[in-house]
Order: sequence, then structure tokens, then C-alpha cells
Amino acid sequence: GGGGGGVGKLERILVSVRLRPLSDKEIARGDPSEWECINDTTIISRSTFPDRPSAPTAYSFDRVFRSDCDTNEVYKQGAKEVALSVVSGINSSIFAYGQTSSGKTYTMTGITEYTVADIYDYIGKHEERAFVLKFSAIEIYNEVVRDLLSAENTPLRLWDDAEKGTYVENLTEVVLRNWNHLKELISVCEAQRKTGETYLNENSSRSHQILKLTIESSAREFLGKDKSTTLVASVNFVDLAGSERASQALSAGARLKEGCHINRSLLTLGTVIRKLRLTTKVRNGHIPYRDSKLTRILQPSLGGNARTAIICTMSPARSHMEQSRNTLLFASCAK
Ligand code: ADP
Ligand code: MG
Repeated sequence: GGGGGGVGKLERILVSVRLRPLSDKEIARGDPSEWECINDTTIISRSTFPDRPSAPTAYSFDRVFRSDCDTNEVYKQGAKEVALSVVSGINSSIFAYGQTSSGKTYTMTGITEYTVADIYDYIGKHEERAFVLKFSAIEIYNEVVRDLLSAENTPLRLWDDAEKGTYVENLTEVVLRNWNHLKELISVCEAQRKTGETYLNENSSRSHQILKLTIESSAREFLGKDKSTTLVASVNFVDLAGSERASQALSAGARLKEGCHINRSLLTLGTVIRKLRLTTKVRNGHIPYRDSKLTRILQPSLGGNARTAIICTMSPARSHMEQSRNTLLFASCAK
């Protein structure tokens, strides 16, 4: 990405694309691999689009990851720096964007685990400070927010507070004991997400999951004396709803009727990210955070001083070519 106009590295949104391997099913039906990473930053399609011969076939991002890259590599190059800014008191968000079955959950689960492992490593090396890690998890489905750490499936309300900003009412927040505790909590969320699926008779491809880790730290010498030395920041791991809905809605355009399941949060996120990218250059303009639950909740971790990484996941299969291209177009808008 160019990032001209005096935009510092720290202000940019880090955008990368991860190609997963062909699945057994794709191999079994002889679905060929359509995309190829020709270097660390460029991905190309092997063929042109028959209906659109002039569409670009090469796309460049901060990083592209070949299908044989493991998640640790994706984490190190595509998320680590952004996620770990939380230990210095800077909010951040890491997103997985892509069509259903492209590898969002696979990627985001690994990144969450690597981040927390690195945070514990950092804590071990900074004994002059006292750290508290807190974990919470929500799901947003059809603009309804639910607590993934609570067995009660009741919708939660969002509130605006002058000091706290927007927050989710009655959300469970657990003080994290160690890395294994995180793994346990992630399993609870997965089970809870599955229960929700049965309850709603839908599947997770339509919901967003946000795992939030908040870190509070203070210098031990000031402990209990001076609150002003306490650093508080959060990192959000966001496993987005399948992008196929958003692109269907967009291609249906003006003919789209209400009641069609447009994913409001996904569409608004796209708009917010596009506008943020422009305002880092222009420094003004209205950012429509309030248009969806997802962007309202994430507002403190988007824009401003906050750091953002977006990992767009893709199937290499030719049968998914059109969806993959939509994913690349979203990624291009974000960088
Ligand atoms: P999504 O969350 O986007 O719907 P998943 O993360 O559930 O997709 O991935 C779909 C399937 O592909 C899962 O079985 C997952 O284990 C597998 N998968 C995804 N990405 C990779 C990868 N990079 N390497 C190997 N298997 C992967
Ligand atoms: Mg998933």
C-alpha cells in the first residue's frame, strides 16, 4: 500500500490477505486453485473474469499469505504489532473478513491465542508493573447483542456513558488467570455460539463474534496510591459474519427491500473503515460509528489513536472466484 500524504506507519490500517489451502471437498470435485501469491505483497488470479475482461487480476496489500503459511506467521506479520500495542495502553482491533468457510475462525482463534501468550510473556518480563487481564465475549446477530460467557441467551443493551463511552450492559467480564484459562473460555464461547445457532435456527455465518481482552497495569511503587498511573487498553478479536451477505446486498443495489437480510454491521464497518482511511489524510468528516452495533461497540478501538489490522481470508478455489474477488475489493478499500 502507498500510504502517502504524510500518513505515519502507526496511523495506517494494516491489511493482509490469507489464502487457505484447497479443502478436501474442493480437491475431490477437481476445483482448481485460482489465486497465487507471487510475492509477499501481491496476489494474482490465474484467469481473467470472462464477463469483465478489464477487471484487474493483480491486487497488492501490506502482506499476502500463501496457503502454506501457518497461523503463527500470519500473526507475526499481520497482527502482532497491532495487537501488542495494548500493553502500551493503545486500543486495537484485529478483524477476520471473508466468505463463510474461508478460514476466519481458524485464523482468529490462533491469533487470539498467540497474542495472549505474548502478553503473558511480556508481563513476565515487566515485574515492575502489576497487570490485570480481563476477558469478555459477545455475539452480534441481526443487530442483537448476546453474552457468549453467559448461559442466559438474553439480548443485552448498549448504553452511552459520558466517561465510559458506549458499553454493553450486564456483560460478563472474567479476570484471566493464565493462557489455559483463555483456552477454556474460548471453548465456552464456541459452545455458547452453537447453542445460539439452534435457538435461532441459523448458523454462525451470519453473526459477528468479538472477543475482548482488557489490560490494566500500574507501576508497583504507586500501587493503591495514584490511579493516574494506571494504563487501561483493550484489544478486540473480531470474527466477522460471512461476507457473502454483504456483497449480495450490495449487488442487489437499490432494488433491495427491507426485510432482506442485509448485515447492517458488516456494511457499516466497511463504510467506517473507508472513511477512517480518508480522514487520516484529510482529518475531518463524519464517521458513521453509530449506524450499527458492531461499530458502536468498537468505536474506542477504531480510528483516533487506535490501531487496526484486517486479515481477509480466501478460498483459492475457482468456484469461489467471485466471492474472493469481492473480498479483495473490500481489502483494497481498507488499505
Ligand atoms: P470461516 O470461519 O471463515 O467460516 P473456518 O475457519 O471455519 O471458516 O474454516 C473452514 C474450514 O477450513 C475449517 O475446517 C478449518 O479448519 C479449515 N481451514 C481454514 N483455514 C485453514 C488453513 N489456513 N489451513 C488449514 N485449514 C484451514
Ligand atoms: Mg467461522
